[in-house]
Amino acid sequence: MKLSKFGEKFTRKSGILELMDDLGKAMGGSDKKYMLGGGNPAHIKEIQKIFRTRMEEIMEDSDSLEKLIGNYDTPQGDSQFLKSMAAFLKKEYGWNITEKNIAITPGSQSGFFILFNMLAGEFSDGSKKKILLPLCPEYIGYADQGLSEDFFVSYKASIEFISKHEFKYHVDFDKLKITDDIAAICVSRPTNPTGNVLTDEEINKLSKIAKQNNIPFIIDNAYGAPFPNIIFNEVKPVWDENIILTMSLSKLGMPSIRTGIIVAKEEIIQKIAGINAIISLANTRLGQAIVTPLLDDSSIIEISKKHITPYYESKSKKAQEYIKEFFNDEIPYYVHKSEGCLFLWLWFKDMPISSKELYQRLKKRNVIVVPGEYFFPGLNEEWDQTQECIRMSFAMEDADVKMGIKIIGEEIEKAYNS
Ligand code: PLP
Repeated sequence: MKLSKFGEKFTRKSGILELMDDLGKAMGGSDKKYMLGGGNPAHIKEIQKIFRTRMEEIMEDSDSLEKLIGNYDTPQGDSQFLKSMAAFLKKEYGWNITEKNIAITPGSQSGFFILFNMLAGEFSDGSKKKILLPLCPEYIGYADQGLSEDFFVSYKASIEFISKHEFKYHVDFDKLKITDDIAAICVSRPTNPTGNVLTDEEINKLSKIAKQNNIPFIIDNAYGAPFPNIIFNEVKPVWDENIILTMSLSKLGMPSIRTGIIVAKEEIIQKIAGINAIISLANTRLGQAIVTPLLDDSSIIEISKKHITPYYESKSKKAQEYIKEFFNDEIPYYVHKSEGCLFLWLWFKDMPISSKELYQRLKKRNVIVVPGEYFFPGLNEEWDQTQECIRMSFAMEDADVKMGIKIIGEEIEKAYNS
């Protein structure tokens, strides 16, 4: 079958598709597997109970369910949700916004597809523009989203060594260049895969650079505050007319309902709604309906802080303790400072084998992680980090995380001593 350029690009075996396939297959069979590879949020009982109660309220109301599932939403999103979300953000953060500043997308992943391709790619005057990722490693899910080739440009992070086995990435502002072909700057904060949280200073600096160059600054807040708040230090969300803030209900515990939220200036929101109408007519309203009352009374903040933040923070701490227990202290391993997300990013300095080989060896021992090399979209220079890191989730059962880490420790020992 002959395919269009779009068809070719989006059906090509991307690295991530191959990997996801491999991860899926690796999970088959009857042996016990230690799945530290995925990005699925944990099933937190207290949160599930809140969603269940909300569903029961919807069911008990005489016509809520029928309205919810029987009517198309508007392409911008459910008007009650948009109003509640705007009022919530205004009340909590003082942002000057109304419902006209908010749009819903079927998951924030689709929101990025719309945003990236609306802002960058090929222009009618023949010029081409790219999305700048100022801190690499960055979220794997951006990598294949461009409708045209050569869509991203990214920069190596600078490295701060914190202690014998801990480090943190920072934006290397000395290297950062905003050329005429940059359409927007984008960061995930907290960052998937590293669990990094860009400092307020870094965010303010990037925001200023974006403004000076008259380009939008996209902040991917999938894990951030106010919800799901999988962030282990106090961070105040920022927004202004030049910032496009994306949020999601996925890591709150509803990844299957596919609800992404974009907060941006009206002009951008109108365009997103227009594209939504063409691509998908409307969004799913269920997630919006579940969350609306939690925004109206601001309880979503308390719920996140009480049940989600401590849950993941304690999982992260435990995983780091297992690492200390099982990794040979003489090996030059480093764990990225865990400031948020569901992952630890492990760097094995000067490791004699590649992270992909390590992934294969671990897979043979039923431990599934993600090799680091997929997390460098748009990086056009050599960097040891691309071959020396892995991402592991700590969202699973403690016993599985512990056993997985024990086996990683054993394989690392073999790798360095081979
Ligand atoms: N952004 C980041 C940083 C993510 O890790 C993810 C999912 O893992 C997404 C965006 C997309 O999330 P969703 O489409 O479920 O809202």
